[in-house]
Amino acid sequence: MKKNILLIHTGGTISMSEDTSGAVKPGTNNPLTQGTDHLSSLADLFVEEPFNLPSPHITPKEMMELKYILEDYDKKGNIDGAVITHGTDTLEETAYFLDLTCQASFPVVVTGAMRSSNEIGSDGLYNLISSISVASSPDANGKGVLVVLNDEIHTAVNVTKTHTSNISTFQSPQYGPIGIVTKRGVLFHHTPTKHENYPVQDIKKKVSLIKAHAGMDSSLLKALLELKVDGVVIEALGQGNLPPAALEGVKDFIKNNIPVVIVSRSFAGIVQDVYGYEGGGKHLKELGVIFSNGLNGQKARIKLLVALAKTENIDEINEMFMF
Ligand code: ASP
Repeated sequence: MKKNILLIHTGGTISMSEDTSGAVKPGTNNPLTQGTDHLSSLADLFVEEPFNLPSPHITPKEMMELKYILEDYDKKGNIDGAVITHGTDTLEETAYFLDLTCQASFPVVVTGAMRSSNEIGSDGLYNLISSISVASSPDANGKGVLVVLNDEIHTAVNVTKTHTSNISTFQSPQYGPIGIVTKRGVLFHHTPTKHENYPVQDIKKKVSLIKAHAGMDSSLLKALLELKVDGVVIEALGQGNLPPAALEGVKDFIKNNIPVVIVSRSFAGIVQDVYGYEGGGKHLKELGVIFSNGLNGQKARIKLLVALAKTENIDEINEMFMF
């Protein structure tokens, strides 16, 4: 029996076309909205298009709008699953935001494309069809928000964009996909062991993301304090270490009760309090720095925004990052 699938178009390359000069951009009509007429044999589609934005234009405001659309449809009670089409640049942030905050009970799949609608080898419609299959699968239930592209099913928490242009750009470093889409159907081979969700209503705080480097000092951190940010995520070195010259800035944040979260600038692995030298992980932990549990920088930033919508208590935020 055909399932009821909510299809939300938000923009991105999947909704763009290439013009005669070779520029890829959105037009007045979303090619995907026209294309969706051909998808009615797959599912009964309920189509929404709240905005049509390249994903570098997406902010937490749009992410929140998506959460409310999903939850409103959930209240109506007749939806079996949802697919969101989205630009790939910030897709992982929107997917993870929804994973952390959305209360809808049906599977939510986020997809996109690396080649626009009229380019040779365009992957948009194909990824959309795969995503509808995944959202229609009862096996997709209870696995959190999923990201489906290039025949692979990834969790929102682990997936990241790894390549600027290759269609297999979405990977889950260290963990791999949790399922595949084949011509015969959808096959899950892993089940996530845990899932966190916070019922936040609004994102108001300001969180910055900066990257550590050899010779880093405290100037950027001090500038951020003057800009009155509510938290900072630092992509630290290796297992979670910082140059000694950056510590003054870190201490200023902590003195002001403003959370400092570290992730690693390394592609895989988690940050840990291993090193005991000045600026090493053990020292940072003693200072009160929060260690993220394997998230990348952009997702730790989303999580800190969500955490700050819930509490300003550093211990509680620390607890949330230990999950
Ligand atoms: N720049 C585009 C966007 O994120 C890339 C894409 O969709 O693939 O909107």
